[in-house]
Amino acid sequence: MSEPEIPQVAPQESVAVAINTRFPASTLQIHESKTGQIFEIYSVGRLLLVLDHKGVRYFIPSRRKRNIKWDKTTTIGLDRVTDSVLRDLAEADYEVFTSSNRQILKRPIHISRYMRCPECKESGNIRIIFRGDSLSGENSEIYTAVPRSEELNGAKIKCTLCGWVGFRGQLLKKSRAPRTS
Ligand SMILES: [Zn+2]
Repeated sequence: MSEPEIPQVAPQESVAVAINTRFPASTLQIHESKTGQIFEIYSVGRLLLVLDHKGVRYFIPSRRKRNIKWDKTTTIGLDRVTDSVLRDLAEADYEVFTSSNRQILKRPIHISRYMRCPECKESGNIRIIFRGDSLSGENSEIYTAVPRSEELNGAKIKCTLCGWVGFRGQLLKKSRAPRTS
């Protein structure tokens, strides 16, 4: 008796389908090629990822990497590769989810509560911009939701008191108490 043949799912298919499932605004296009199927992941008409027999190629703004090769991922496993790609998508402001359907938030940048808004000069209201319509209450101490439709010119943080948006380097440092000698 011969063993039943179990169809092997190629790594590119398994990872592409998992990403597509956990990235609601994405679309998946599949092309046939001599080296196997090629999976392209798009969002709003923009090509973000290409997955083929060699690995994942990035077309998203990511300082960390340009590609992932399957032969380098045999020890960590494909689930971890999927999680890592989704994390990079979250860092690039895409709305993606964990396998238990919780939104993956980008890593917070450190903002001291003493740093002050350059516009209203108040501290304690600076939040990291999170692209989306809403945010769960538990994260509102660190993030503030700004809809994608709002143009930000790359701004990363927002003052929730006056509405100023900008970058960490623009914040005013804690004012020193005047020296009395
Ligand atoms: Zn302000």
